[in-house]
Amino acid sequence: MIFEKSALFKQESYIDGEWISSPDTLEVIDPSSQQLVGTVPSLGEQETLQAIHAAHRAFLPWKNLTAKERSVILKNWHKLIVDYTNDLAVIMSKEQGKPLAEAEREVVSCAAYVEWFAEEAKRVYGDTIPMSQKGKRIVVLKEPIGVCAAITPWNFPLSTITRKAAPALAAGCTVIVKPSSYTPFSALALAVLADKAGFPPGVINVITGKAEILGKVLTSSRLVKKISFTGSTEVGRVLMRDSSDSLKKISLELGGHAPFIVFEDADIELAVTEAMISKFRNSGQTCVCANRFLVQESIFDEFSMKFIEMVRSQLVVGSGLQMDRNQGPLIDGKAVEKVENQIQDALAKGARLAAGGKRIAGKGFFFEPTVILDATSEMRIAQEETFGPVAPLFRFKTEDEALQIANDSQYGLAAYFFTKDLARVWRMTERLECGMVGINTGILSSEAAPFGGTKDSGMGREGSKYGIEEYLELKYMCIGGLT
Ligand code: NAP
Repeated sequence: MIFEKSALFKQESYIDGEWISSPDTLEVIDPSSQQLVGTVPSLGEQETLQAIHAAHRAFLPWKNLTAKERSVILKNWHKLIVDYTNDLAVIMSKEQGKPLAEAEREVVSCAAYVEWFAEEAKRVYGDTIPMSQKGKRIVVLKEPIGVCAAITPWNFPLSTITRKAAPALAAGCTVIVKPSSYTPFSALALAVLADKAGFPPGVINVITGKAEILGKVLTSSRLVKKISFTGSTEVGRVLMRDSSDSLKKISLELGGHAPFIVFEDADIELAVTEAMISKFRNSGQTCVCANRFLVQESIFDEFSMKFIEMVRSQLVVGSGLQMDRNQGPLIDGKAVEKVENQIQDALAKGARLAAGGKRIAGKGFFFEPTVILDATSEMRIAQEETFGPVAPLFRFKTEDEALQIANDSQYGLAAYFFTKDLARVWRMTERLECGMVGINTGILSSEAAPFGGTKDSGMGREGSKYGIEEYLELKYMCIGGLT
C-alpha cells in the first residue's frame, strides 16, 4: 500500500463531522528519510473552540442513546479498524518509523480497546446501599462526565487514542483528540473510520496544531470536563496546573523508568528473551520499556553474555517499511542527542560499552542498539528516561539492594522481575513502588488490565473494567418518605 493513495490518509482536521483545512500548516517528517510525509492544519483558538462547542452540542444526544446503541457504533468502528489494518499500519510506520510488523500489532491493540469498551458500555452498573435511617433508600447512578479532551503522544499513535476515546465514548462522553504533531495522520485515519462507523457529528473530533495554543484553550474551557493526557511528566504538570482554574477531572499517563530485575534463581534464557522485547520494542521508545537492568552478581556474566549476543545477532536497524528490519529510527534529532549524551555520561563515569554506542550516519534518526555494562546510580541513565535503544546493566548482591535501586526513581510506572521463588514474587510485588509489575515477563499491556502509574508517572488507569470509571461521575439519590 502506498500511504498517499490510502483513503485514510487525510491532511485535514475533523470537527463536527466535517473535514477542515487551514492556510497555516504543520509539516510531518518521516524519521527514516527526513522527507516530508505531508502537512496538517495548524488550527488556532477559534477552531479549538469550534470543536469544543461541537462536542458540547453532541453530548446530550449521545449520552441519551442507550448503552447498546453506543456499543453498536463502537463495534462498527472496531470492525473498520481491523479491516483497514494494513492502511493504518503503513501510515503509522511512515510517520512514526516503527517496523510494519510492530505497527500491525499496535493496530490490533488499538482495535482491542475499542472492542473491550464497546462491551463495557453495557456494564456501567450503579449500586444500591443499605440505608442507616428508616424510610429512606440510597441508589448510586453513574453518569458520563461530559466533553473530554484526549492529548496523545507519538510513540503509540493509535492505541493511546483508543485507550481514551473508546471508554469515554462508551460511557456517553464526547471527545476531542489532540494527537502529537509528529503523528497526526494516524489519528486522522482513525477519524475517517469513526466517521464511516456512524458516530454522529461532534461526538469525536480530531484537531491538529501547535500544542501550547490548543492545550491552553482545552484546559481553560469550562465546557471541557476532563483532560486525559499521555506524554511526558513535564507536560503533564503543565496541563494539571492549567486545568486547576476550571477544576477538571484529570488522568495522566506519564514517563517511566522501569527496572528489570534478574535474580540468580531465574530462568535466564527466558529473562534474556523477555529483556529483548521489553527494551527494544519501538527502538526503546515506550513508557514501560526496561530502562535499568539489575542483574544479580552471581549470574551477571552469564546473563550479559547471552543478552549481548542476542542484541548483536537479532536486531537489524532500518526503515520500518523495509520488511527485514526490526529496529526503526528514533523520532527526531533531539532524541538521538539525548541517547548519545546518556551514553557518553555513563562511559565517562566508568561504564563499559559492550554493543553499539553510535548514531548511524546518513539520512534518518537511526541509532545502534546499545548495551552498557557496570552502570551505577551516579549516571544520568539511572534517573533520566532514555527513550532509545540503550540497555544499561547494573549489578546487585541482595534482594534488598535490588529493591532499593529499583525504587530509587521519581517514576513509578512499570517494573519487571524474574525469579522462581513464590515468596519472593509476593515480597517484591508488594514492595515495588509502581503501578504495574511484570513477573517472568517483559510485556504487560492488555486491554483487559488496568494500565497506569504512581509517583511522577501519573494518575488514573486505562483499559480493563477500571478504565471506564475515569469518564464517569457518581450521582447518588437519597429517596425519602418510604415508610
Ligand atoms: P510530550 O512532548 O509530553 O507530548 C505529548 C502530547 O502533548 C503531544 O500531543 C504534544 O503535542 C502535547 N503537548 C506538548 N506540550 C503541550 C502543551 N503545553 N499543552 C498541551 N499539549 C502539549 O510527550 P511525547 O514526546 O509525545 O511522548 C513521550 C512521552 O510520553 C514519554 O515521556 C513517555 O514515557 C510518555 N508516555 C507515557 C505513556 C503511559 O501510558 N504512561 C504511554 C506512552 C508515552 P505536540 O506533539 O504537538 O508537541
